[in-house]
Amino acid sequence: MQLVILGGGESGTGAALLAKQKGIEVFVSDIGIIKGDYKHLLKTYAIPFEEGHHTIEKIKRADKVVKSPGIPDEAAIIQQLHACRIPIIDEITFAAPYAKGSIIAITGSNGKSTTAHLIYHLLHTAGYHVALAGNMGYSFAKCLTKGSYDYYVLELSSFQLESVKNFKPNIACLLNITPDHLNRYNYSIETYAKAKLNILRNMTPLDHFIYNKADPIIAAYLQPENILPKLHPIDPCSIWNNDGLCQCNVHGTSFSIGREQIALPGRHNAYNAMVAITAAALAGVAPRTISAALPKFHGLSHRLEWCGAPQGINCYNDSKSTNVASTRAALLSFNQPIIWIAGGVDKGNDYSLLLPILQERVKAIICLGKDNRTIIKAFGLIELPIQETDNLDKAIHMALSIASPREIILLSPACASFDLFKNFEDRGNQFKKKINKLTQQ
Ligand code: ADP
Repeated sequence: MQLVILGGGESGTGAALLAKQKGIEVFVSDIGIIKGDYKHLLKTYAIPFEEGHHTIEKIKRADKVVKSPGIPDEAAIIQQLHACRIPIIDEITFAAPYAKGSIIAITGSNGKSTTAHLIYHLLHTAGYHVALAGNMGYSFAKCLTKGSYDYYVLELSSFQLESVKNFKPNIACLLNITPDHLNRYNYSIETYAKAKLNILRNMTPLDHFIYNKADPIIAAYLQPENILPKLHPIDPCSIWNNDGLCQCNVHGTSFSIGREQIALPGRHNAYNAMVAITAAALAGVAPRTISAALPKFHGLSHRLEWCGAPQGINCYNDSKSTNVASTRAALLSFNQPIIWIAGGVDKGNDYSLLLPILQERVKAIICLGKDNRTIIKAFGLIELPIQETDNLDKAIHMALSIASPREIILLSPACASFDLFKNFEDRGNQFKKKINKLTQQ
């Protein structure tokens, strides 16, 4: 069989390595320039590739094409291949048949990485041979080239799920659905929601589906009566009882988790933790192992990460927040007044969702971006001080001059970072470094 892989990033290179390992003849074609590390891998494993263009004549000779998730269906090359009736599949569909262990798949608009890492942590602590892959770190296909595992914990985006065919998780988690990436889906929330719900496509009554019971978009598009796996709905708004305990009933076993056992701030993280605990318990991790491992998970960088307290003002780096829902979750995580640093490349945000919280919790807004007009327009009419800058140092100094000790400075941009930074990590790392330095003074 001749396999052509479109895209030479983490997903495409992973698929190429897996194909090569399985003895399949493979060729990689990328319309852009392939990153050095990936090119090195392709050369090391003697996988032929082209970059900067697609040679359609060559690609048309493929028996099957594997497309990377970043390539939308509307791309010219995909349309040309459709016209020639060449089967096109995605990396997850290509990789799935080679996975021998069980699969726990996590999707949602926000919280995937945090929840997937926590599930990994719980299973790993329990002594399982477990892999973490998908949308972050190794692609699923590349992970499969590394050996076999008891469990594959997969973080999956809507791009990765939208066209899956044979993929069947044993446990699937759908954390939430809020508007994001809608440009990929003709600005249709329904199409975006259906891409995520594709996770259920092949699941059977022996499998488990953990989902957000209070999410209005999930409620609008999920039809529980037509779903085969066992349902585990969780309501993020009522995790704790009056004693600060959560009662977990999984697989006929009942155990309780105390609020203080979760080291991550915010109600959204308590919800993420409950999803992870349920998944781990379903995978057979003992309650006492979960209880012991949970407090040792301190979250990931750039997700509501405490990064210093210059002048006694607690500063949090939430640079990974690139949409309104994740910033809303961050703002809801504090009882103290917040000086909120926001802005960047706006993906079509509806800021009105934040208005009630801003009035309740925010002391001042600092807009940090090349073009701050949209945010200023959205919040210009409420009685809150708003300042703007396109310089991170200035933003921090503006925030510090407004904040009093024990108040919060929160970088939670609700926007992408590409106007002033390389990516969200760069934005968060620069913020952390500057706060760290100020804390030392
Ligand atoms: P993802 O992988 O889905 O982008 P992350 O765990 O990386 O999710 O978190 C991305 C952003 O979303 C961070 O700002 C984080 O604080 C926020 N977040 C995490 N979990 C949730 C949740 N359940 N609901 C809303 N926002 C969340």
